[in-house]
Amino acid sequence: MRHVLIELCDDLAQRSDQRVSIMAVGGVDAVRRIRAGEAFDFAVLAADAIDDLVLDWSDVRRLCGQAADLLRRADFLEPDVEARALACLRDAHGLPVALRRWFDLDAAADAGAAQVWTFGLRPYLTRAAAALLPRLAAAEWQRATCLVCGGDAEFAAWSGGERRLVCGRCAAQWSFDPSRCPHCLDANAASRQSFSDPSRLYRVEACTQCRRYVKGLDEDRAGRTVLVAYDPIATIPLDAAAAQLGFE
Ligand SMILES: [Zn+2]
Ligand SMILES: [Zn+2]
Repeated sequence: MRHVLIELCDDLAQRSDQRVSIMAVGGVDAVRRIRAGEAFDFAVLAADAIDDLVLDWSDVRRLCGQAADLLRRADFLEPDVEARALACLRDAHGLPVALRRWFDLDAAADAGAAQVWTFGLRPYLTRAAAALLPRLAAAEWQRATCLVCGGDAEFAAWSGGERRLVCGRCAAQWSFDPSRCPHCLDANAASRQSFSDPSRLYRVEACTQCRRYVKGLDEDRAGRTVLVAYDPIATIPLDAAAAQLGFE
């Protein structure tokens, strides 16, 4: 699709004096911006991307059920939210609707149950992202949302002055300006507040503008690359420390 667009733009530029710019944005992000009234001359939307995922529904139900149980036992899930999630898992018609709302970042999605769906669908989204990433222009992507699925970053990896963000849904990784807050995009160094765990391998960079933070691994110190199934869980104490300082 991108090649076709570039050819069409070149052709238009030769026939007229009009310059055309192509902007790559994630489908979910694009839909949100278009709905908010932003003017695009021409948009190609990969709508309903979640419908293309081949899901084993009994496996998805089992994974979501296990996630709800673990999250509840770790006090990350309120009993009423767990009850809603479990009721949804038993509802053959309701579950696909709830998962689509969650994936599309729909305002009607149950925000509490989101972490249950995240764990349940992660193996599927991770496989899909690993297959798609080599075909995407990841180096051109300079946005804070995931270039594959439009999700938010849940983790970061610092390496040699660069920072990669790791998607909290599909585990895709992409470079993002290390001086910018990935939540509010503020680039003022005075708004950054950072602290490390005792090993100094992991650190939190918080933003005093939006009161949100991103935690991550210092790969240079660790001598390894980020382990997406391990590092976010190993750093749960840093989440507690950030919450105590009033960041979310
Ligand atoms: Zn993603
Ligand atoms: Zn911020």
